[in-house]
Formats: sequence, C-alpha cells, structure tokens
Amino acid sequence: MYTIASISEIITCKRAHIFNDAQKILELVYDTRKISMAQEGLFFALKNGRDGHLFVADAYQKGIRSFVLADLNFSVSSFPEANFMWVEDTLKAIQQLAAYHRRQFTIPVIGITGSNGKTIVKEWLYQLLEPDYVHQLYKSPKSYNSQLGVALSLWNIQADHKFALIEAGISRVGEMLSLQQMIQPTIGILTNLGTAHMEGFASKTEKLAEKWKLFSEVDRIIFPSAYVPDAGSITNGFSWGLRSGDQLLIKDKSQDGNWTVIVADYLDAEVTFAIPLLDNASIENACSCIAVMLYLGYPQVVIQERVKSLRPLEMRLELKKGKNNCSIIDDTYSNDLASLQIALDFLNQQNQHQHRSLILSGFIGLEWTERVKSKIVQLLNDQALYKVILVGHHLAEIQEAIQSNVYFYKDTADLIADFGNLTFVDETVLIKGARRFHLEDISHLLVEKSHETVLEINLKSMEHNLVKYRSLLKKDVKMMAMVKAFSYGAGGFEVANLLQFNKIDYLTVAFVDEGVELRAAGIKLPVMVLSPHEGAFADMVRYRLEPEIYSLRILQSFVTYLTEQQIDQYPVHIKLDTGMHRLGFMEDEIAELSEALQHTSRVKVVSVFSHLVAAGDPLMKEFTVCQISAYKRIASVLEKDLGYGFLKHICNTSGIVHYPDAQLDMVRLGIGLYGIDMTPNRLHLEQVSTLKTTITQIKSLVKGETVGYDRKGVLDRDSKIATVKIGYADGYDRRLGNAVGQMMINRKLVNTVGNICMDMCMLDITDVEAREGDEVLVFPNLEQTAKSIGAIPYELLVGISARVKRVYYYE
Ligand SMILES: *Cc1c(COP(=O)(O)O)cnc(C)c1O
Repeated sequence: MYTIASISEIITCKRAHIFNDAQKILELVYDTRKISMAQEGLFFALKNGRDGHLFVADAYQKGIRSFVLADLNFSVSSFPEANFMWVEDTLKAIQQLAAYHRRQFTIPVIGITGSNGKTIVKEWLYQLLEPDYVHQLYKSPKSYNSQLGVALSLWNIQADHKFALIEAGISRVGEMLSLQQMIQPTIGILTNLGTAHMEGFASKTEKLAEKWKLFSEVDRIIFPSAYVPDAGSITNGFSWGLRSGDQLLIKDKSQDGNWTVIVADYLDAEVTFAIPLLDNASIENACSCIAVMLYLGYPQVVIQERVKSLRPLEMRLELKKGKNNCSIIDDTYSNDLASLQIALDFLNQQNQHQHRSLILSGFIGLEWTERVKSKIVQLLNDQALYKVILVGHHLAEIQEAIQSNVYFYKDTADLIADFGNLTFVDETVLIKGARRFHLEDISHLLVEKSHETVLEINLKSMEHNLVKYRSLLKKDVKMMAMVKAFSYGAGGFEVANLLQFNKIDYLTVAFVDEGVELRAAGIKLPVMVLSPHEGAFADMVRYRLEPEIYSLRILQSFVTYLTEQQIDQYPVHIKLDTGMHRLGFMEDEIAELSEALQHTSRVKVVSVFSHLVAAGDPLMKEFTVCQISAYKRIASVLEKDLGYGFLKHICNTSGIVHYPDAQLDMVRLGIGLYGIDMTPNRLHLEQVSTLKTTITQIKSLVKGETVGYDRKGVLDRDSKIATVKIGYADGYDRRLGNAVGQMMINRKLVNTVGNICMDMCMLDITDVEAREGDEVLVFPNLEQTAKSIGAIPYELLVGISARVKRVYYYE
C-alpha cells in the first residue's frame, strides 16, 4: 500500500508541497476524462500532445488531491487541500514508480516483444497457462505496451499474482531500455521480426538489437531462430525453427483439414502438435506459445490438449452498424478494469443516439473484492447508462447498486433465451465481455451482416496522429480538423465523435449537408463550411454552421438572408486568396470587403484564413513565404479596419511541420490526421484506414491462358489465380490492373492480373500459400500505389466508394 509519503521517496522529487502525507494512493491518473476513485488517485501531468499541467484544475475539481508536476513555476495556491510533488520528467516519474512496484515481486515475469504477434502471444499464453493459476496470472491489458502503457500495466500487479505476462512495444531506437528497467522480465519472448513499424530504425539489424535489450537480464530468451543471426551463440537462448541446433527443431509442417500438424524434435524425442489454425502468422505465434510451455516443463499431452482450443483473436474494440438503427461496440475478448474503462470511454464518445446501453460479462483473473465491486459500480453509474445487462453469477452482487435499468442473467445462454424480451432500438450498445462468456453470440444477434470488402478505420491511430501534430504546435495554437469529404473517406460522425472527445477546437466540412449530418449525430463543436451556397443558408443557420465567405456576392446574399431573419453577429470566416486562385478575396478586393463588413452588424468575422498551395514542396519555399506574408499583411489591415480581433490561420498539415512560425492562432489539420505523412522527416504517424477483402475463388490455369476482359492478362507460366470482390466501382482504380497494383495475402505481395472489373479483380497467387476465404490487404502501401498510377494518396482514400462498409475500431 502506497502513501504520498512513500511515493515522494520513490520518485525523485525536486520539491514537494504536501497537505496530507498519509493519503493512500491506489490509482495512477494521467487523463482527467478517465477518473474513478479520485481521492486515491495520483495525477501525473504528462506532456502527451497536450501539456498535462493545463488539466490540473480540472482534475482537482473532479476530486484528485495528489499531483506530480514538472513545471516549477506552476502556481498551486488555488488548490489548498492537495499534495504536489515536482520532478524533472513526469513520464520518468510514473516509470520509476512502476519499476519500484515491480521490484516488490519475485514472481516470474515474461516480457514479450516483436514486430507482430505480441498481443496474440500474450493472450494465448494467458489462456494456456490460466488453468494452473486461477486468479493468480496477470497480463498487461489489451495492447498496453508503450512507455506509459507498460508503467500502468505493472502498477496493477497485486500481491496474489504468481506469474505475469507483460508486452513491450517500441517504435524507435532508444526506447527499450526504459521498458526493460520497468518490466525486469525473467523470461523473454521474441515473437517475430518483420517490417512493421520500420520507420524508427535504420535497418532490421538495428531493430533486432533494440528489441533484444528487453532480454538483457533474463534467464531464458525464447525466440524463432529465423530472425536471429548467430542464434546458436546465444547461451541463454531457447530457439525454435528449422535450424539444426534449435531446441525445438521443426521437421515437418502439414495441413490436415482445418488443422496444421507440426512434427518436431525436442530433447531427443519426437513431438507432434496439431494446431487448429492454418495461416502462417497464427502458426508462428502458436509455436512461440508451445516453446514457452515446453520451456516451463509442461508435458506434450497437456500442451496438445490446451493448444486445441486456440482461436484467432478478435481483440479489437469494434464499432459496427447494428440492426434497428443501433450502433454496436463489440469488445468480447477480454474483460478487466482497464479495458472496461477504455470501452466505456469509447461508448461515452458516441453521440449518434440518445441512449447508451451496456452488456457486461463477469470478470476473469480479478480478485472479487469490495473495492473492485465498488469501482465497477462507480464506473457504470458515472456513465448514465440506459440499460445495463449483467451476465455471470457474481455480477448479481452489484445488480442492486446500479442506477440504470438493470437485467441480470447467470450466463450467456440465459440471456440468449430471453433475448426476445429485450429491445434495442436507436441506441449505442457496448458488448463487453471475457472470452469465456462468448458474448460474440450476442453481437451476432445485434449486428447487421457484413460484406466481404471493408474499410477498417483505426480510431486509436487517428488519436495518435492527432497527438503527434498537437505536440508540434506552439503554445495556445488552436486546431481545426478537416472532416470534409466524409473525413477523407474515413467516416462521418464516427470520426467527429473522436475529435470532439479529444477537444479539437473546430471542424471543417465542404458542404452544408455534411455539417447537418454531424449535428444530427450530436456533434456540438463549431463547424466551418468551405463551400456554402444560397440554397442552403436556412439549414446552415438552423444547425449553427459557420460559412466561409469567399466573395462579395456570397457575403451580400448571406447578409440579405440574415437581415430577413433578423439575425445579428452571425459567425463567418473570411477566405483570402494569396495564391491558390480557387475561392477567396484577392488583395485588391480587400478595401471593398472591409467597407462592406463595416457597414453591417449581421455578421461577425470569427476568423480570417488563407490556404497554402505547396507547403510540402521545398522548391516552392519562396512562394509559400510570400503567401504567408501576403496573408499577414491583409489580415492585419482587416483587423485594423474592423476594430476587433479574430482567429488567423493559414497552415494545413504540411504547413504545421514546415512553417511552424506560420501556425498563428490556429492550424487546419487534414491528411496527417488520417495517417499520411508527406514530409521527408517522418513523423511516425500510424496508418488509419485499411481496405480489406477476401478471396472468393481460386483457380489453377495453365501457361498461355488469359484472365479477365479483353484477354489482357496473359499467363506466361502455369498459375494460381485468385478472384477478390473489389473493383473500380469500389474505388479500386482501373489503372491498377495488369500487375501495376499489388495486394497482400498472408504477408506476401501479389500482383493484379488482367484488367480490373467493375466489382471484382484477379490476383496472381502462384507463389503464395492461400485458400479461399483468406484475407487480402488491398493497399499494402498506399503511397507507392498512388504513385504508380500518377495519383496521390488523398485520391485513393476519398475514392473508396460508399458501398464499401466502414468498420471502426479503437485499439
Ligand atoms: C483540405 C483543406 C485543408 C487540409 O489540407 P491537408 O493538406 O489535408 O492538411 C486545409 N485548409 C483548407 C482550406 C482545405 O480545403
């Protein structure tokens, strides 16, 4: 049990201002939107995009009474009843505390790293080992594997845990040391070394060396020898693979129906494992798990018995369209307090329906104490939920305390039997459960059937990108996010909800209709409309949308409309043309504009802006600098004439990076939010949109045959051809036919063959192991694909047609 007194000695404090040094601390807090049990919380003011010091007052108001800050000049006089500790670096401090907590345990801790498969191996190992450690096996929640995530994971290790599985993720050189120092693993696992997240490393060797730092003090490193040169020279290694000398030497791999059978040598004996999975990535992950169990001394029969129940994981929290105009958040893989909190936050972001409901299963691997119960009750009651449906006998104990309409079922079968008596109409429903409860059966009942081609949108990555760009902003610069064109193809209210939750200052749409849709979905942020037109003034005003005024004509007609309606001081945005020559006032029209604005009280100028033409092109620097100075000159004339201030903005995504001095009062973030970084100094953005389809049919054809329309796909060898259900009507450009475009199947690139059809196209999969139903990545490299047909990534993203179903997830 920690108190402020003990914590002030664990973290290196430069200064402290203590009100109550006996205050117990049980929760680590870094985000004021995620506070429960405030009194026992310790708030760390992290620099995570936004400066955490800005949220101290909010945290105090929500009941937090203990703080760790970095800014020595921060005045605490208005927070009389609180503890304050100052440190050099608040992230380091939370890591110090986590490392200290970890050192209190002498249990085995497995540290898992690798480019792919970390989370799956962790979750599978948990499932495989759990029978021997009921409630005593700890795993880091979800993919909590970052510098902060690992610290938060470790903090939750409790006295009764006998074993822990902790995931470590890095994206660049220099990050692993601090993770190793926190986790202090006793056993290490390397899952895989691929090209995922390659940007932060000069080479694969450098990446391996960095990951390997996690293992600097472990007893044993379990790894696939395929990725490790000199695998034999690692004295504390336990390698598996095809290399003679591997402890687990795989001799044969074959398929038998839906099973993969592995025959291997282990300790001078032959062992056989049948794994109920087929794809290479799953088999690799399963082999990692088998190697760990062998190392831990499990007999082959036990391993075989448990491996039988491995399944592909749907670990992601997904937002799907439900029946009866519902939105369904499907999160049916695991249930622990941390992931429940994440899921509830996500539920809370959803404004598209009036009601929000929850279907919650029991908790696994969590000691069911009074404190845990009251925490869950508080979490649920904080949400103002419409319906709460509890599944699992121990949840009966909290039923009474829940302040919503509560239903209780002892198991999922009971709930299904009674399902006809529950109605879900026009509400957002979170289905949150541990794997054992199989709540996915409930999700199947509520979700509309999905098609074979989907655009997956990772909202968590979008959040990550937002944070990245925020961290580039100077102090007090506001941010407007461009959600025009269905958010560059990524979606409407789903994206806007996330941005609203993340306190973006402004949204921008192209047309009034787009803004009306956002309002209908409960978006309250100010919204600018780039292309307003006369016919839409009524809707614009009714839905409080703010027009871009780009000409005297549109100003005059809007003022006329406002006069008829007797509306005063309506917010508008003035667009200046400093070189784009699209919409906007030219410099020689400013006197007239200024005159007109001074003669009306109908509109109020809230911002004046212009648009950079080539902010990403270093050769156009001179032009861009001219644009910026012309903008500043004209804006200051207007400001003087009008006699009041307004927001000034000119930077788009590239401008934020290349012209930081032009960030002015606000920036307009577009393509960067969606994960496309056109700047040479890579920002480590995360990919947001992934277009996926599946193989519908596979054919074997002989040399000389042709594939597709007009016989353009001539086969120059015997070939295996796969048909996938995506064509130019879905936005897969016809120019990508005939081997110009590449897709990815089971981590291998394959070429298109023949012309692209309207709803389908064909791929040459001769060199790839693949089966009908396998998943296909349509744009494994969006930028390169765009380039190959003389397009830009924007084009391909917004071109993905509306009939392609969008699935959102937050992981
Ligand atoms: C689309 C748009 C942006 C965003 O541009 P990106 O290059 O996507 O960042 C900014 N301002 C205006 C006026 C736009 O039309």
